[in-house]
Amino acid sequence: MELQVKPPTVLLPGSTVGILGGGQLGRMVILEGRKLGYRFVTLDPSPDCPGSQVSDHHFAAGYHDVLAAEQLGEWSDVVAYEFENIDPEVVKRLEQKVFVPQGSRLLEITQHRIREKVTLDACGIPVAAFRVVHDAKQLRDAAAELGYPCVLKTVTGGYDGKGQRILRGVEDVEPAWQSLSRPWEPCILEQFVPFIKELSVVVARNIHGQIATFPVVENIHRHHILHATLAPAPVYERIAARAERLARDVAEKLEITGLCAVEMFLLEDGQLLVNELAPRPHNSGHFTYDACATSQFEQFLRAICGLPLGSPRLLTPAVMVNILGEHVEPLMQRIPTLPDNVKVHLYGKKEAKPGRKMGHVTVLGESLAEAWGTVQQLGIWEDEDMVRFENI
Ligand code: AMP
Repeated sequence: MELQVKPPTVLLPGSTVGILGGGQLGRMVILEGRKLGYRFVTLDPSPDCPGSQVSDHHFAAGYHDVLAAEQLGEWSDVVAYEFENIDPEVVKRLEQKVFVPQGSRLLEITQHRIREKVTLDACGIPVAAFRVVHDAKQLRDAAAELGYPCVLKTVTGGYDGKGQRILRGVEDVEPAWQSLSRPWEPCILEQFVPFIKELSVVVARNIHGQIATFPVVENIHRHHILHATLAPAPVYERIAARAERLARDVAEKLEITGLCAVEMFLLEDGQLLVNELAPRPHNSGHFTYDACATSQFEQFLRAICGLPLGSPRLLTPAVMVNILGEHVEPLMQRIPTLPDNVKVHLYGKKEAKPGRKMGHVTVLGESLAEAWGTVQQLGIWEDEDMVRFENI
């Protein structure tokens, strides 16, 4: 669809940024943007969401509410989304009236695992071998072709490990299909990647095409939720350089505007395969708030407002660890005696349900090993010493 709104050359501080979504990502964009003098309006169903607590004005409305979204658009000089579960149709409507630099196209690609893998593959970005499957028979044939183990995933709606099953043998085909398949869409089957590390790079591309990559980090998941990010990733320099190059290629080839987190697998032989994209600030980039010359949140704003990108330089090694619902109490007990290299971020969410992301801490150190040592001593997370980092 032809854009009716021409991109501006630059949106100076004082401009109003509308944000679809009022979660912690939007909140941190706003906190950073206020420093620069931007104004913010948010849209989210919850009147007291993390974003609304810090925005100038909040529309409490659902993400499918076109009228509310259009009202947000009327108040804004530019509109951004801070998470992917926004209806692309709403974004398309908005694009006709207001500048939406991230656009609906990237949303449509990254919301849909098949489109995402096909697009990456077509751009020459390495991904795990995959097949699209429409029924249990196709799944059995595809699994035989790709070999066991393999991973069956729903095409939409999966996050934090939800909507996926590992198939270890032919006996898993039927139960996996029964539990994941949905009448209205196929599933995707991927080869199981025997990765040695999960890495990610947050890349920014501004509306003029300038690109900057944050340092590659290593991500450690627990129960399929991001637990910790190590910055920089303890990998050889040449692997770090290749990971950053790959993220830059993704930004160039997909013509990303704003930010994109590129999640990848590192294999034993040094190969990198891209697993997933997130077209917005990302949990694995939270360390940038305290540890980089420019945070991913400020960078995002700079990118969509047409300012020159800031330096993504890492100022000090850092470990970011998420605070889930079950960690709030131990964190609160620890706050009065925290060492001065621990930066606490809480998102203002009222209800601390287990597994819900409530905040994060970033521990700064002279080295990763030192930062990790501090994490272990905090006593906030269980079994911290079970995670061993031979490479630090
Ligand atoms: P995703 O929902 O695609 O981000 O996957 C969540 C997690 O599942 C990843 O962070 C990996 O730990 C694991 N995973 C996903 N796809 C694969 C794969 N093809 N092979 C091995 N592990 C995978």
